[in-house]
Amino acid sequence: MNDMTMEQRLALNHYDVDTEAHIKVKPEVCQECDLRPCLYVCPAECFKLKEGKISFSYEGCLECGSCRICCDQEAIEWAYPRAGFGISYEYG
Ligand code: SF4
Ligand code: SF4
Repeated sequence: MNDMTMEQRLALNHYDVDTEAHIKVKPEVCQECDLRPCLYVCPAECFKLKEGKISFSYEGCLECGSCRICCDQEAIEWAYPRAGFGISYEYG
């Protein structure tokens, strides 16, 4: 287990992906954000920079809450997925 890469560890998780995003990001706010810490804190790399703009995908979210804490611009509407959806961890 200790020799596994992050990608290998993430591949152990099981996701029941909802059709409805449980986290929503306001792109117009992100455009004015200088530091963009979400790009660095999200362990699942749900935030990406594409052609100078923040792109967010909720499907691989680990429900850790890091993005909610790091964003000081109030650009993130954060919630857990609806009941029955989201991540199931292989080890706890
Ligand atoms: S930290 Fe917040 S405002 Fe800044 S880019 Fe990320 S989600 Fe957008
Ligand atoms: S809750 Fe965690 S895994 Fe999900 S998008 Fe935010 S930082 Fe990434």
